[in-house]
Amino acid sequence: MPEDANDEQLNRLDALYSWHPFTQMQEYTQKGSFHICKAQGCWLWDTHGNRYLDGTASNWSNIHGHLDPDLKQALIKQLEELDQTSYKDQSHPNATLLCAEFAKIAPEGLTRTFFTDNGSCAIETAIKQSFRYWQLMGHPEKTQCIGLANGYHGDTFGAMSVGNSEGFHGPFSQWFFPVHRIPAPTCQEYAGHTYHADDKESLQALEKLLQSRARNIAFLIMEPLIQGPAGMKLMPYGFLKAVSNLCKHYNVHVILDEIFVGLGRLGTLFACIQENVTPDFLCLSKGLTGGFMPFGVTLCQEAIYQAFLGSFKEGKTFYHGHTFAANPLITAVCLKNIQKLQQQIPRIQETISYFQKAIAASFNNHPYIKEIRQRGLVCALELYPGTPESNFPQEERIAHHITLKLREQGILIRGVGNDLFFIPPLCISKHEINHLVSTTASTIENYLDKYAPCLTATTH
Ligand SMILES: *Cc1c(COP(=O)(O)O)cnc(C)c1O
Repeated sequence: MPEDANDEQLNRLDALYSWHPFTQMQEYTQKGSFHICKAQGCWLWDTHGNRYLDGTASNWSNIHGHLDPDLKQALIKQLEELDQTSYKDQSHPNATLLCAEFAKIAPEGLTRTFFTDNGSCAIETAIKQSFRYWQLMGHPEKTQCIGLANGYHGDTFGAMSVGNSEGFHGPFSQWFFPVHRIPAPTCQEYAGHTYHADDKESLQALEKLLQSRARNIAFLIMEPLIQGPAGMKLMPYGFLKAVSNLCKHYNVHVILDEIFVGLGRLGTLFACIQENVTPDFLCLSKGLTGGFMPFGVTLCQEAIYQAFLGSFKEGKTFYHGHTFAANPLITAVCLKNIQKLQQQIPRIQETISYFQKAIAASFNNHPYIKEIRQRGLVCALELYPGTPESNFPQEERIAHHITLKLREQGILIRGVGNDLFFIPPLCISKHEINHLVSTTASTIENYLDKYAPCLTATTH
């Protein structure tokens, strides 16, 4: 913490001058703020010296732990050499080496890398490249696109348009471009066991749409394997492959949003390789620098890149970019992170198998858990009052209240509606998993033992 700042002053200034994302500021300023000022590994400290387990991987971004010494070293080294430079019409070593690294590790065929500085912008890039590709290839009629129900791809206008998050984006929908929407498949799975899986309706809708409209459709966009922001909604294995095959058959691009599921979260470098799928575009962001810095990457197939080549006069240049795209400091950290991640994959797979056993041991047949959805280092716990056919009203924000109790116990996780989420840093230890899971289980019990009977009493 800066030496001239004290806690009381920070809380006052935060309430007076800040505006936090996805936060009801009236509620936030009333409850008093909470400043994190230090981190190490999977742990965060507040300005009072209290320690918290980072159960959200700091917005799903952390891989090797906070202030990982190797990433820190890469950043410090780069700080001796070059801070920022343009990437228009010139390059610098980290950016070039990073592109080569992606070409080496990405699913076969994804040879080209375009840099941005956040997830939404990685999505915008793919959308614009796809639309423009079809114009350049003599198919200006391909102006439409397909998204999935409950999809989330970011908060900029293009990303909001292709997404489908009524709660977040509804008020802005009159300014969205039109998108065909197919239903999302449903799936329940945890500890490697599938309890329910259904993608029939979704695939039928897609096939019907493609049969009648493919001629006018540029791309389909989806999050493979898990729709994260929608509440960790799993997709049956095989769905991605089927979608990819249909799109290929009907000459429609596939844009995969791996901003959440990519880079080890599901135990593989890329989620799509689990179904042996190579998309036309693959978007990455959250874990790219292991949680150090903002970054976004859009990978695409060589043929897409080739379509933009020509003499200057032909006007095929991709006029799109951001000031800090390919920043030397960020790319230095990303390069080190990606190299380190490749070595960590076997360890992450071991962590996943431990995680799923720990989840099953604590929450299988738990009196207040209606459904567990878990895959990789991702888990959602859906809470209910414990009697069949009963539910907590969403507006009670049960999960949110439990996260506040958990914070007092030194655990930071997010809860939305009736769902609690574990999204730990990929380096989490067995001991830390035990702590996360057992503290959450006991906190749920303590809170709901008191709360659930009151609620049942008042609603009947
Ligand atoms: C976070 C996220 C985004 C948006 O990334 P930002 O960097 O927050 O703009 C897009 N898609 C998915 C699946 C995400 O989880």
